[in-house]
Amino acid sequence: MNCDEAERFLDAYLDGELELSQQLELEQHLSGCAECQAVLQERREFRAFFTAAAPSFKAPPELRERVLAITREEPAPARPKVRQFPLWRRPWLYAAVLLAIGLPIAWMVFHENREHRFARQAVSDYLRALFVDHLCDVVSPDPKVVKSYLMAKLNFSPPVVDLASAGYQMRGGRIDIVQSRRVATLIYRRNKDVINLFMWPATRHRFTGSDQVMSGLRICTWNDVNLNFIAVSTLSDAELDRFTDLFREAIGNR
Ligand SMILES: [Zn+2]
Repeated sequence: MNCDEAERFLDAYLDGELELSQQLELEQHLSGCAECQAVLQERREFRAFFTAAAPSFKAPPELRERVLAITREEPAPARPKVRQFPLWRRPWLYAAVLLAIGLPIAWMVFHENREHRFARQAVSDYLRALFVDHLCDVVSPDPKVVKSYLMAKLNFSPPVVDLASAGYQMRGGRIDIVQSRRVATLIYRRNKDVINLFMWPATRHRFTGSDQVMSGLRICTWNDVNLNFIAVSTLSDAELDRFTDLFREAIGNR
């Protein structure tokens, strides 16, 4: 089973609707694929989010009877004549419309939250690295050294660029885990400020881009060259913008 096949089975898997052989095949794939595990986790979170956020409506007895009548595949027993409401006065119609509108909104809010969750985890990775005084797995001002170290530990090639001439000194690199993915983290320094730049391949969900502040740190997320990026920094807004512009320009011109 490959990743595309696995993704098709995920919803049925969460619903407990897979045949045993398919379930075993999927679980075998999941056990060796962090990417699909992350997607499964996202689906789980979306379901929980939607269940918690969606308004719920009790089906009116009228709707219930209709559904039962259809599923019985036989004419509903004659009922005493009731007053027929015009369509616009039927509450289940509004429930259906609200659900149709609510689902895409919940999906949008969930995606926004996801970028926020990724950023929060990047911040906590950064704070932990600070706390244990281990910002870098490899310490070097040379982008080539940092890149080859990271490439040996990852299944993608992270862009590592030299921005020393613009005042951003390369300090080194680190491997982190963000939402079950192994990601590359580059560490740059400008005077006393530090920038941690997290990156990984966006195979399914590309960041739409955001600016946030968390724990007094500035965070910028974006997507470029099929990678998702999170920059976490003690720099000012303007300085961080300048850094991300320079970085994006440099990888665009490679
Ligand atoms: Zn997979």
